[in-house]
Amino acid sequence: MSTDPNCIFCKIAAGQIPSKKAYEDEEILAFHDIQPWAPVHLLLVPKAHIASMVEVGPEHAPLLGRMMALGPRLMREQGVTNGFRTIVNTGADGGQEVPHLHIHFIGGPRPWNKG
Ligand code: AMP
Ligand code: ZN
Repeated sequence: MSTDPNCIFCKIAAGQIPSKKAYEDEEILAFHDIQPWAPVHLLLVPKAHIASMVEVGPEHAPLLGRMMALGPRLMREQGVTNGFRTIVNTGADGGQEVPHLHIHFIGGPRPWNKG
């Protein structure tokens, strides 16, 4: 599995930087965003370093499918019962700040800080 020693989400996935984990398996980590927009704000990341959706190819389809299918389950586990937003920012114009692929799952009762 390829990782980037300078990448903050690779360091979180490796346990070198602490995070509030919501789920973990061999391929995927879910943790709470440090600056949540809403009562529940999870980030789902692959443990392998994939910089963004630009790098995604057909070989990643099973992994991305698992991440998308996992999100609703984790939101339910976090008590989200009235819907949520799912966001992937890609590249500079997409507003991506951390260059390691991540899916935001954002929910809980409004009002939210953003969005
Ligand atoms: P994006 O703009 O899509 O790249 O989002 C990056 C997200 O990562 C932001 O919502 C940040 O608040 C979040 N973030 C950055 N550093 C950490 C960290 N150490 N732990 C948890 N979330 C983080
Ligand atoms: Zn990384």
